[in-house]
Amino acid sequence: MRIVFLLLILLWQRPVNAAVMLIYHHVAEDTPRVSSVTPSEFREHLSYLRDNNFQVIGLDVLIDQLKTGNPIADNAVVITFDDSYENNFTTAHPILQEFGYPYTIFISPGAIDQRIGPVLSWAQIKQMSDDGVLVANHAMWHEHMARPEQGESEAAWLERMQQSILQAEQRIKEETGQSHKWLAYPYGEFSDALENLVSELGFIGIGQQSGAIGPLTKLTRIPRYPAAGQYADLKDLRQKFRTLAFPITEYLAANQVISSNPPVLRLALKVEDFRPEQLRCFAGSEVLEPVWLNATTFEVKAIKPLNRGRSRYNCTAPSISKRGYFYWYSQPWLN
Ligand SMILES: [Zn+2]
Repeated sequence: MRIVFLLLILLWQRPVNAAVMLIYHHVAEDTPRVSSVTPSEFREHLSYLRDNNFQVIGLDVLIDQLKTGNPIADNAVVITFDDSYENNFTTAHPILQEFGYPYTIFISPGAIDQRIGPVLSWAQIKQMSDDGVLVANHAMWHEHMARPEQGESEAAWLERMQQSILQAEQRIKEETGQSHKWLAYPYGEFSDALENLVSELGFIGIGQQSGAIGPLTKLTRIPRYPAAGQYADLKDLRQKFRTLAFPITEYLAANQVISSNPPVLRLALKVEDFRPEQLRCFAGSEVLEPVWLNATTFEVKAIKPLNRGRSRYNCTAPSISKRGYFYWYSQPWLN
């Protein structure tokens, strides 16, 4: 009887085993809305996390859990900033310190060395680092990394990318003593070949496509949810805190740099906690028909060709075991 009771308690408290990572840029009133939250919105986000039993953990803790296969901290949320804007230090940092929340900044050392734009100084970054802020790699010059430039060979491009990643890592280490080998792809742009390079260099790759993070998340394309501009509204954001990562076992056709238009997305996954017939996919407002090729593999393709630049397919399905939770996968495309 007691064992049954214990089992019931365990099932009741079964952890979600998924984390959500947020991406911010500016915390300010007077910066472009698309990449900004106001200080009061930012405070509202953090208050929500605190008041609803979310655990804000450092990216180091999450990466360690993913690498070792240990369970992900329950209701885990990771906070990140890209592009090292000065308001991260003047405005966001004191608020985060007040809440006692760890966070990571992804910086492009070239932009800081040359003071391009309203970016942090190395002195400010050092101060943040001394306060416990994790400082990581956003490529040396914030360059588009996913594919060769016009006329550039594949080998020359990959060599250039390797230099950018390693040089940025070196500069961060010189200035702060930190070297985590985490690369946030500028503009969220990556490709199969770049992911391979990142993996060969022993780095983790972090994107800007939305989605939750789970035990099977590929460590060269970790998703993050945008939390600024139109995404800053807590009404939408709080639903994202209750998303799960589709347990993808193989990315059969998911290269962000497309080779045919519209591109085919083909994924193999564990179909355990969702019903295949409840899988829904979208390209913008266009509803897509996923086709199951076998019990664990589906593919999906837009009807109309994608526009130039970046776009997405989103796929979602409700969790069977966790009421109110949805599996979420966003496939970024670069045309
Ligand atoms: Zn950036």
